[in-house]
Amino acid sequence: MKYIFITGGVMSGLGKGITAASVGRILKSRGYKVTAVKIDPYLNIDAGTMNPGQHGEVFVLSDGGEVDLDLGNYERFLDIDLGATHNITTGKVYRTVIEMERRGDYLGETVQIIPHITEQIKTCIRHAAETPVNGGDQAEICLVEVGGTVGDIESMPFLEAVRQMRGELPEHDSLLIHVTLIPADSMGDMKTKPTQHSVKALRELGLYADIIVGRSDHPIGPNTKRKISAFCDLPQAGVISAATVPDIYQVPMEMEKEGLADVLSKHMGLEKRPVNNDWYSLVNREYTSRISVAIVSKYGIEDVYLSIKEALKHAGRALSTEVKIGWLDAERYEPSHLEEYDGILVPGGFGPRGIQGKIDAITFARTNDVPFLGLCLGFQMAVVEYSRNVLGWTNATSEEFGEGRHVIAILPEQENVKNLGGTMRLGNYPVTIKDGTLAKKLYGSNETTERHRHRYEVDPGSIDTLEKAGVVFSGTWGDRMEILEVPAHPFFFATQFHPEFRSRPTRPSPPFLGFVEACRERNKKNLK
Ligand code: GLN
Repeated sequence: MKYIFITGGVMSGLGKGITAASVGRILKSRGYKVTAVKIDPYLNIDAGTMNPGQHGEVFVLSDGGEVDLDLGNYERFLDIDLGATHNITTGKVYRTVIEMERRGDYLGETVQIIPHITEQIKTCIRHAAETPVNGGDQAEICLVEVGGTVGDIESMPFLEAVRQMRGELPEHDSLLIHVTLIPADSMGDMKTKPTQHSVKALRELGLYADIIVGRSDHPIGPNTKRKISAFCDLPQAGVISAATVPDIYQVPMEMEKEGLADVLSKHMGLEKRPVNNDWYSLVNREYTSRISVAIVSKYGIEDVYLSIKEALKHAGRALSTEVKIGWLDAERYEPSHLEEYDGILVPGGFGPRGIQGKIDAITFARTNDVPFLGLCLGFQMAVVEYSRNVLGWTNATSEEFGEGRHVIAILPEQENVKNLGGTMRLGNYPVTIKDGTLAKKLYGSNETTERHRHRYEVDPGSIDTLEKAGVVFSGTWGDRMEILEVPAHPFFFATQFHPEFRSRPTRPSPPFLGFVEACRERNKKNLK
């Protein structure tokens, strides 16, 4: 197993995860088996309890792990399925060490950050690296992204563990990539001082960068590279320019042009292999149509719905259709704004804020034949909307929101759940699909598996009445409703699960493909 460690300098939010995923893609395109580990130096056990408004989307893995959104990028760029072990947090590491101490595993010893915490970190990294991805395949190369920036108190034990690992591994089996910011001054001159300082901070911890990836608005020229090379003590070929590009999936291609593959091969003693260009031809595909989709939600930040944004892009690319997204604040949008869009999407969420706005958007889509895709809470609100406006149950609501007729009820096994962390219905569950439905047409099968994250479901007592009134529950798991459609409508489709988490550039999600295609049809008709 070879390890590529990725650290960050100067500031967070530079796209370290995308850089790491792109490095992985470059290797994968040459036939190497690659896996990825993300280290998050916070005390939470996982991302499940964190506010997505502050930290971005909570990504859900097949095994039900609620993890950092960077794991979503790894899954999409590398086309692999990761597990909860691939997201290491301070919380997980300390919990294990404290449990071991209570068991008596360290009997007699004083338990300390070095060596006990750092040993546990190394164990977690190795274990994750060796965990097979995609049913049995062990990786040859593992990317290890250390969250945060060099110098943060929180990341110290992790960087020390990386230092130890690098010392223990044969020279060719480890590589360190430092991702840093190269800002430009008002004259457009590229400034390398912040990078010099962060490389110095890295060195103080005993870590040396083999490659420096410089993030900037415009490509970094040879002069700047020469300067970084001189001050940061690495060959100029090891300085890679990563200017901002319109589409994240282009990043591997840009880094290919910078000669990153050669530098990687040389450092790690990898044989030179031909490049499989499938990824690059996919990314370069021209768009022939354009559609616009409104996402009605309570968060204005795109990172909260990163996987939805990407899933729309994947479907769009497969259909040569560019998808423009309009983010509508569920509490504030003007109803007339909905008219500007070819489709409406109501995503997942928790809590009552913005609920009425979401329901109104669904009414608009249903009554105006506008394509609609509802995901998780969006699915539940489609049930509430239908109950209120078609069945006439004006007080219909979800049990999550308090008093009323509960057409969405708590899952029986959730009734006595007290702890909030990691206790929802999470991860993969099979879904049985009915013949002769839109779902069957989209999935092309009577069986699929999708990822879940919820505590509520369609109230079993309301199902019959809803079906008699024109709703078809076309996907189920036992007596649990998983997919809803309204056949009288051109495209009214909603899922209790989150199809966005399984969507890949190379394998778009069926509900998203159907939705984008329906939006394109509507757009064409409107143009006529
Ligand atoms: N809050 C709803 C539930 O818990 C929906 C969850 C979601 O959208 N992920 O069932």
